[in-house]
Amino acid sequence: MVHFVGAGPGAEDLITLRGMKLIEKADVIIYAGSLVNPGLLKYAKKEAEIHNSAYMTLEEVIDVIERAEEKGLDTVRLHTGDPSIYGAIREQMDILKEKGIGFDICPGVSSFCGAAASLKIEYTLPEVSQSVIITREEGRTHVPEKEKLSLLASHQATMVLFLSSGMAEKVRESLITGGYDKNTPVAVVYKATWDDEKIINTTVDDLPVDMEKEGINKTALIIVGNVLGNTYERSKLYDPYFTTEFRKGKEK
Ligand code: SAH
Repeated sequence: MVHFVGAGPGAEDLITLRGMKLIEKADVIIYAGSLVNPGLLKYAKKEAEIHNSAYMTLEEVIDVIERAEEKGLDTVRLHTGDPSIYGAIREQMDILKEKGIGFDICPGVSSFCGAAASLKIEYTLPEVSQSVIITREEGRTHVPEKEKLSLLASHQATMVLFLSSGMAEKVRESLITGGYDKNTPVAVVYKATWDDEKIINTTVDDLPVDMEKEGINKTALIIVGNVLGNTYERSKLYDPYFTTEFRKGKEK
């Protein structure tokens, strides 16, 4: 059996209890060493066989899993954040299905949730934005035409950009082409929830300069939108005059 486990954004105690227990029981662990905190491996059995997938191809990962299966061993495939976001798990799952190897998925705290916590922000604010667009600038991985950053930017919803911190100048251009005001607030969170986390508060216009100044070009999220500002409406849910399924609102 293979368990895909979300390792969380970085801090060792931000893995789920279920994820931690799966690591404790695993005979074989394949972890994405470029982003998963190696400190999580302290939960593993002493005799567990450990592989860092940063140095492996998909074929090599599958090979390790197949050898474990032949011996009836349990494998944990540890991915950063939540495996459903840029996790490259689909291709692994499809091969496992083909080979008749059973698997399940244990979710994790995605880095975009870790970043919101670090910034102490809420991505969805009444009268500011009710949507979060999770996307990336196009790099070596192609982005479908209709999902180009400049097109998505035209919605002016809250945006969380993964895998884009090495392309700050291109991000700035796409956001401006898409219609963002140059002064729209932007936050960059480097290594959210890790001990060496860094936060930059900047604007669309100053993003590349400020990222360069701080030397941040990887392992960061770029968060864009007026939810980073100070203007919003309070929620209906907790409004004394608003009636909900659980609470009768006051008469005006
Ligand atoms: N599945 C992961 C994302 C993997 S893609 C998740 O749910 O978070 C890798 C990208 O995620 C990085 O390039 C970076 O943009 C972002 N990332 C991962 N961990 C991060 C962290 N702790 N802080 C900031 N960004 C992070």
